[in-house]
Amino acid sequence: MTGDMRPEDFGAVYERFQASVSRYDCGRFCSPLNGGQPVCCDTAHAIPVVDKPEFQYLKARTDLWHKYKPTDANSRKIVAELHKGCMAIECKGARFCERDNRTLACRAFPFYPYFTRAGELVGLATYWTFADRCWLMSNMQVVEKKFIREFIAAYEYVFERDPEELTAMKKHSVNHRRQSTRLNKPIFLIGRQGGFLKVMPKTAEIRPAAVTELAKYGPYKSPRAYAKAVKDYGGEMPKQSPFVD
Ligand code: SF4
Ligand code: SF4
Repeated sequence: MTGDMRPEDFGAVYERFQASVSRYDCGRFCSPLNGGQPVCCDTAHAIPVVDKPEFQYLKARTDLWHKYKPTDANSRKIVAELHKGCMAIECKGARFCERDNRTLACRAFPFYPYFTRAGELVGLATYWTFADRCWLMSNMQVVEKKFIREFIAAYEYVFERDPEELTAMKKHSVNHRRQSTRLNKPIFLIGRQGGFLKVMPKTAEIRPAAVTELAKYGPYKSPRAYAKAVKDYGGEMPKQSPFVD
């Protein structure tokens, strides 16, 4: 542990982590159910939280980002509970996205680095509260090997320098295991070397998982469920079907 990240360290993180998560533009699949906006680029769903030095680094490069202003009681609570080294920020919106100036959180979504009870970083788990809205979480088979490699390299770089971030991700893994035990459902992971794993509820034992076992959620369970959800919402069906191999 060598202390916190400096602004310029985020340049090194971004350099290590440039790969696209998949060959699909997945925002086209979730946005018909969110007023045309990709869910993870809409602060009504996901408020990007960054280390203050990351914001400093971005501010010196672009005017894409500004400090997020809470809009209701819930978002005020989220901002009030942030660690003092972090802040909530907002970009100008998906139409103005600058690929090279995306935060680490943007690049990684919907994944976080999963740690076992013994403290080993074994793979990528998902931010489970988005399962009903994020297409990618029902389609982990599309994630590219290059993305997995770069994700791990970027986070390991951060963890070597920022013990608080390491602790936060370990805590997040603990909370995920609690939720899995409560629901009596496994946590599905993408292994850091590729392939899929499942963390068993209660025991936290890790076993290999077949692609056919991966969970599908909400509107992404079947073409019929998706078409109905889009119709009920009043959205427009995407040109390409979200049901891919
Ligand atoms: S990562 Fe999930 S929420 Fe974000 S654009 Fe893709 S499908 Fe939508
Ligand atoms: S910078 Fe791009 S990826 Fe990140 S929230 Fe904004 S639009 Fe989405």
